[in-house]
Amino acid sequence: MSEKKKILVIGGAGYIGSHVVKALLANNFAVTVYDNMSTGQPCNLFTDANFVGGDIADEKKMHEVMAKGFDVVIHLAAKKAVGESMTNPQLYAKNNISGTINILNAMTDCGVKNIVFSSTAAVYGMPKYLPIDEQHPVEPMSFYGFTKAEIERVMDWYSKLKDFHYIALRYFNAVGYAADGSIRGKEKNPQNLLPIIMEVLSGKRKELQIFGNDYDTPDGTCIRDYIHVEDLATAHIAAVNELCARPVSHIINLSTGKGTSVLEMVHAAENVSGKKIPFKFAPRRSGDPAIVVADNSTARKILHWAPQYTDMEQIIQTTWNLEEK
Ligand code: UDP
Repeated sequence: MSEKKKILVIGGAGYIGSHVVKALLANNFAVTVYDNMSTGQPCNLFTDANFVGGDIADEKKMHEVMAKGFDVVIHLAAKKAVGESMTNPQLYAKNNISGTINILNAMTDCGVKNIVFSSTAAVYGMPKYLPIDEQHPVEPMSFYGFTKAEIERVMDWYSKLKDFHYIALRYFNAVGYAADGSIRGKEKNPQNLLPIIMEVLSGKRKELQIFGNDYDTPDGTCIRDYIHVEDLATAHIAAVNELCARPVSHIINLSTGKGTSVLEMVHAAENVSGKKIPFKFAPRRSGDPAIVVADNSTARKILHWAPQYTDMEQIIQTTWNLEEK
């Protein structure tokens, strides 16, 4: 029997990271999680994975861990609030740029050659055409998006200069939870639409504010490409396998290719929960494009991956399950 491949998941206690760890364990990888637990949660940790508490800013610790040797690093540790990145860019520069460079340098110093990097739709900025493919210009409108775009460029240089390969996965809107209920860590102070809808449904918030109803879309509200977190997780497994099979770097959108409006999300959540969602229309949120929908043909071709969750009510049900119990 061949040895298990060793994977270091940085940020493995977070929302997407914990789903990636779950999928890795299910696929027989040996997993080590490195997390500073700033937003990661103890209930997101799996006992079958090793855990190392630490910060990516800690160069010494990063090197110590990396020296254990890994086939692939998956890096999901980042600050991700777009608004905060505009008021506190220093924090985002330190964490998302300097912190990631610590990881990349620890990798190259220790001979760890492969990384799967969490990138984002925010690197594209205002869509110039739809659906967005990977050739779309990279012109981020937030400092958050800039930090991710910048690391993609650093990784590209490292891939030319060193024995180093990367797959940057540009996530669109991640939603949902593991359908088997094994991951239950809810984000504190959520900024995204579906967790906010859940807070309204559970009575934690009085009402939902819908940012803009005068967009050039069929119902006037913004359209986004919502992808289930378990589909994101399986794409990470495919990316790990691809890097282990072929030393080639890629940038890949992870999306469904299907758009859903804010009002459609509200109605789907009402159907799933059987409750009314009080909402009011509020002014547009600055920097929000009317429609973001992405082409996922690169993921289909290179990763031989396709999203399995296609029904929005089914997707929302996996989130609603956490509220019901
Ligand atoms: N949105 C909203 N009310 C909220 C939060 C979000 O109307 O309280 C809208 C937002 O304007 C966008 C969509 O929901 O059109 C998804 O927003 P989110 O912040 O979840 O993700 P984004 O697409 O901005 O990354």
